[in-house]
Amino acid sequence: MDFKRLEDAELKGKTAVVRVDFNVPRDEDGNITDDMRIRMALPTINHLREKGAKIVLLSHFGRPKGEVDEALSLKFVVPALAEALNHPVNFAKDMNPNVVQIMEDGDVTLLENTRFHAGETTNDEALTKDFAEFGDLFVMDAFSAAHRAHASSVGVAAHLPAYAGLAMARELDHIASALDHPIKPVMAIVGGAKVSTKIDLLENLVTRLDTLVIGGGMANTFLFAQGHDVGASLCEKDLKDKALAILAAAKKDNCEIVLPVDVVVASEFKAHAESRVCGLDDVKSGEMILDAGPDTVSAILDVMEASKTLIWNGPLGAFEMSPFDTSTVECAKFAAKLCKKDVIIAVAGGGDTVAALALADVIDDFTFVSTAGGAFLEWMEGKPLPGVDILTA
Ligand code: AMP
Repeated sequence: MDFKRLEDAELKGKTAVVRVDFNVPRDEDGNITDDMRIRMALPTINHLREKGAKIVLLSHFGRPKGEVDEALSLKFVVPALAEALNHPVNFAKDMNPNVVQIMEDGDVTLLENTRFHAGETTNDEALTKDFAEFGDLFVMDAFSAAHRAHASSVGVAAHLPAYAGLAMARELDHIASALDHPIKPVMAIVGGAKVSTKIDLLENLVTRLDTLVIGGGMANTFLFAQGHDVGASLCEKDLKDKALAILAAAKKDNCEIVLPVDVVVASEFKAHAESRVCGLDDVKSGEMILDAGPDTVSAILDVMEASKTLIWNGPLGAFEMSPFDTSTVECAKFAAKLCKKDVIIAVAGGGDTVAALALADVIDDFTFVSTAGGAFLEWMEGKPLPGVDILTA
């Protein structure tokens, strides 16, 4: 994928305005419970520091809706970031670009929550200029914010040369290798709760893949559409025609669809509920399909073995409740094994996928696991991402 990379920018003595994503989770006492997003920003910040640039960081946090809300100030990030960088971090509450005058090369300033400005989410022209006043170039390093055309992630690039930061570039290189220019055969596993949230995604994927595995609660809608009785399972019966249309589109585009051939059912929706494996036409009226059965798993493993690229979004069952995590975990472990042998490229992301793959303990073995929920899904849907378009223009 062709885009402007930070490594190609002239940096010495320049000030880089860098969009990061410090929207980190916190507990009730305000402690950061997962600093992954801060760690993801470090390679770009360190690169800029090494090259002698000054760094002004922009990020949103929470949803203050265009008003100052002290509870959502980004100040809490400063100590964690300073420690991770082993360098002091200045915090600028006000939008005053003079702050750059007192910075030395390699210094880092974090601006207050971009969403304290009403113009952030509307991509207000005046605000984009105000952000641009802080620097000589713009670095987009927040793929997780790339699906929104906001002032700090897209608008500012109208006034400054824009480059992809190192985390952003890594993400773009991996997703391009999985769907835009994949090594074929290419397959996807799409699971999760509902078809209704993934119609655009399924419609796009069937035009691009060799095989599409449909699992999780959403598979029930397809099984119902095909005339199977799914008992008390989660099922969007009103989407029967849509499911049939997706199956027809897949046939037209030569995309093989893999649906469950056997299922794990239970009468209660809870962990360790009594369960049994059964065929598709053996689900009783009070029973719910909560996972794919062993024959389905072996069919999925066969497809994986015959594929060179795997894209994964969504669990194959109600994975939060043992034993309904079985098919998700078995398939994830097998994909990880193929990745380790370098016979498959496996890229995953969106929604609950990261949690499901973490449960299977395969995150580090997959080629790439994106933590950018919404942006990853919109890319799978084939939609343009405004925060990426500014880098390819
Ligand atoms: P999503 O956010 O659409 O990826 O959906 C993830 C959720 O789907 C998880 O909370 C799973 O527990 C749930 N899920 C997956 N399979 C089933 C199923 N067969 N029945 C009910 N919920 C399911």
